[in-house]
Amino acid sequence: SAARSPRGHDDAVKVVVRVRPLLAHESSGSVARVDKRLQTVTISDVDNDVPTINRQRSVAVHTFAFDDAYDAGSTQAEVYETTAQPVVESCLQGYNATMFAYGQTGTGKTYTMDGSEARDPVARGIIPRSVEQIFRHVAGHAQKNVRFLARASCIQIYQEIVSDLLAPPRNGIAPEGTSAVASPLEALAIREDPKRGVYVDGLSEWVVRQPSEVYALMDRASRSRATGATRMNDFSSRSHAVFVVIVEHSETVYVGEDGRELAPDDFAREMRSAGLKRAEALARLENRVKQTFRVGKLNLVDLAGSERVGVSGATGQRLEESKKINASLSALGNVIAALATRQTSGTTRKHVPYRDSKLTRLLEDSLGGNCRTTMLATISPAAESIAETLSTLKFAMRAK
Ligand code: ADP
Ligand code: MG
Repeated sequence: SAARSPRGHDDAVKVVVRVRPLLAHESSGSVARVDKRLQTVTISDVDNDVPTINRQRSVAVHTFAFDDAYDAGSTQAEVYETTAQPVVESCLQGYNATMFAYGQTGTGKTYTMDGSEARDPVARGIIPRSVEQIFRHVAGHAQKNVRFLARASCIQIYQEIVSDLLAPPRNGIAPEGTSAVASPLEALAIREDPKRGVYVDGLSEWVVRQPSEVYALMDRASRSRATGATRMNDFSSRSHAVFVVIVEHSETVYVGEDGRELAPDDFAREMRSAGLKRAEALARLENRVKQTFRVGKLNLVDLAGSERVGVSGATGQRLEESKKINASLSALGNVIAALATRQTSGTTRKHVPYRDSKLTRLLEDSLGGNCRTTMLATISPAAESIAETLSTLKFAMRAK
C-alpha cells in the first residue's frame, strides 16, 4: 500500500518489476514505461507513437508502484545489488529466504535468475551472483573457530510432481542413436519433521566449496530440465525450478576467566598458563567453550510461465497441464497475499494456505515469519503482450 515505505525492507514481501528490452521481431514500440525514481511502471496502449494492435480492446493508462522498478536498460549487476544482495545477506545471517521470478514465458525469468551463461561476468544472473557472494562471505570469515558448509539442490515441480534435477545418473537412459526417451524423473514426496522442517524425501544435496562446482550443478540441472523438451515443446516454461542453497555456519566461542569472549589463540594460552591437569582443564572447558550454529536456506525460483493457455483450444494433456500451472500459481498468489495482509493488519491469526500446492508446501518454512520473500515480476514491453503484462502486474500488486 502507498502508506508504507517505498523501499519496503520491513515488508513481509518485497515486489519488484523488470521490463526486458524489445526483441528484434518486436518492432511495435514499448507500451511499458518505468520511472525509476518513483519506482512505478506505467502501461499504456494509447501512447501516440504506438500503433496499437488492440484498438477494440483498448487498455487505458495504468500506473503501478512497486518496491523497485527496472527498465530495459537495467543491468544484471544492478538488479542483483539492489534486490538480491540483501536477500543473500539475510540467508548468511541464518534466515530462510525466497526469491521468485514470475511472468509470461519469454519475459526474462531465466535470464534474470540464471543469466545467459553462468560464467559470463556481465550477463550472469542472480543464482551465480548469489553463490559468489556466499563464497566471498565464507572466505572473508576464514578463522580457526568458524566452519561453513554450503549445500545445493535443485527441484522441479511439473504437474504437481516434485522431482530432483540433480539426481545422480541411473540406469535406464536411452542408448545413443535410439528413439527411446530418457526415463522420466522420479517423483519425490514432501515430508515434515520437527528437526529438519519441511524437506523433499530422497532429494540429493551437493556440498559445494567454490562457484565452479555450483556452475557445474546448474548446467546439469538445466540439461535434466531440457530432457522433457524432446517430448514436449518448451517444457521448461511449464515447470517450476527451485534452486536451493543451504548455508550452515558453526562457530566456537571461547570465554575467558572474566566471562568475556577470547580469541582462540588467547584462550589456548590462558589454558596452558593455568597449568591444569587434563581432567581439570576439560571440566573448565565445558563452561568456557560454546558452540553457536546458524542455518540459512536460500530458495531461488524460476516459475512456470504465467500466461493463460487458451483453455478453450487446449485438450487432453495440454489442458490438464495448464489447469495445474494456473492452480499452482494462484496458490502461490494466495499465500503471498495472505502474508502481505497479515503484515499490514498486524495479526498472526490470518490463515496462510500453504497446503494448496506442492510449491507453497515445499517453501512453507521459507515464506513468512522471519523469512525474506521477494517477488521479481518480469514483463515484456511489446504491445502484443499488453494483456499478459497487465495480468502480471496485477498479480504482483496483490503481494503488496
Ligand atoms: P523466460 O524464462 O521468462 O521464458 P527468457 O529468460 O528465456 O524468458 O528470456 C527470453 C529472451 O529474452 C531470451 O533470449 C533472453 O536472453 C532475452 N532477455 C530477457 N530479459 C533480458 C534482458 N533484461 N536483457 C537482455 N535480454 C533479455
Ligand atoms: Mg525460462
